[in-house]
Amino acid sequence: MTTNFLRCFRVAALIALPISAFAQGAKPDPQILAQFGSFENAGLQKFIDSKGQQMNRVSDKPGDYGFTIVDSPVINAFATPDGHVYFTRGIMAYFNNEAQFAGVLGHELGHITARHGQKQQTRSTIASVLLGVGSMVSSRVASLAQPLSQGLGVLFLKYSRDNENEADGLGVKYSTKIGYDAAQMADFFTTLQRTEAQSGAGGIPTFLSSHPNSADRYQRVKGLAAQQKSTLGKTKLNVNRDGYLRAIEGLPYGDDPRQGFVEGGVFYHPGLKFQLPIPAGWKSQNTPDQFRMSEPNGKALLVFTAAPGATLEAAAQGLAQQLGLQSPTAQKTTINGFPALTIEGDQAAQQGQQQAPAHTLTYLIQDGQSIFALIGLAAPATFGSYAPQFSASAQGYSRLTDAARLGRLPERVRIKTAAKPTTLAAAFSANGVPAKRHEELAILNGMKTTDRLSAGQLYKVVGK
Ligand SMILES: [Zn+2]
Repeated sequence: MTTNFLRCFRVAALIALPISAFAQGAKPDPQILAQFGSFENAGLQKFIDSKGQQMNRVSDKPGDYGFTIVDSPVINAFATPDGHVYFTRGIMAYFNNEAQFAGVLGHELGHITARHGQKQQTRSTIASVLLGVGSMVSSRVASLAQPLSQGLGVLFLKYSRDNENEADGLGVKYSTKIGYDAAQMADFFTTLQRTEAQSGAGGIPTFLSSHPNSADRYQRVKGLAAQQKSTLGKTKLNVNRDGYLRAIEGLPYGDDPRQGFVEGGVFYHPGLKFQLPIPAGWKSQNTPDQFRMSEPNGKALLVFTAAPGATLEAAAQGLAQQLGLQSPTAQKTTINGFPALTIEGDQAAQQGQQQAPAHTLTYLIQDGQSIFALIGLAAPATFGSYAPQFSASAQGYSRLTDAARLGRLPERVRIKTAAKPTTLAAAFSANGVPAKRHEELAILNGMKTTDRLSAGQLYKVVGK
């Protein structure tokens, strides 16, 4: 199984701290877009921005904030301290009405207006948590990967329970102010909890550990919503289920295989038309700008990424510089017909750095106009035992020609209308959804499989 970077962190509990100096919040951070991918959907981008700005205007601390949906299947929403709120397309698929969406949007905006992110960041945690792989090589990889890819500078931290409670209260207030039924946000917590329980992905149960007890939270938000409604004298609040569902018709659901997928120990990339074997038993993570493989205990890393440079030699020079290599040796070779170059060398020790420098072996592969780097890193003492795996992976780089894999498409959310009164499970079956996916899709609908649909009621299925 491939996982997108940071899949284990879920939900609205988290903030991202770009390593770079804080930019203005109105624009999305290029590092975060590189990390998660830009989501091309003008309608939904306009939707989140207009609702976000509407809330911004009625918030406790209006500012130059921005709101963006990123192209990631993980279910997540987060705010950066510079004042930008990010929703994934994954979380967009799981909302079942505009009021749920607005509640979470208000919660994230609340983290910004209450300035939660700015009270807890330190450089040391950035360095230690950055990669989530073996600490020995991690900071070196981070320093090499950033100029190469602009990709890694994102860190998620947990907020305290007090901060979460405060953000819940602000989410209720802001969404009620712009006319939504904030009680719906509590129902969305139930959906999040069910996705956690179902995925059992072995990720850190961040949602459960960092958030207030879910049952308490549900009750608390319901109570706050009722209170805000009467405080603000709102008699009629919007839910807008149908409008929301129609807006997400066609939204990609789950991983998008066109951006690469792992199957049977091989990474396939239909967009770039190549395949690359993964060392047996290693973990892998696919992000828009790199594919990373790590030895299960984090003792060695292989990073596949694009290498800048017009020729292999130019790419090699740039890479040796970025890796901080001391007198590297280079050798020309050919891999399955592709011109290639290997570079091997030790990283120079950096001043003030605690970790030992790594020994590295990189394969640069020229594929048409593109040059790719497969960078292997391990401690000098253990490098010899991993080098054969680095080489075997590189030697397996080849053209992807299998039509079925080249043409694989993502699943998409499809909105259906119940023709007659029925159960959700029966409606799924009528659409050809196999029984083993009924629970998954019931969660997507925020319903139970036994729940009734009335004639004309909309519901979600997924399909090509
Ligand atoms: Zn939160």
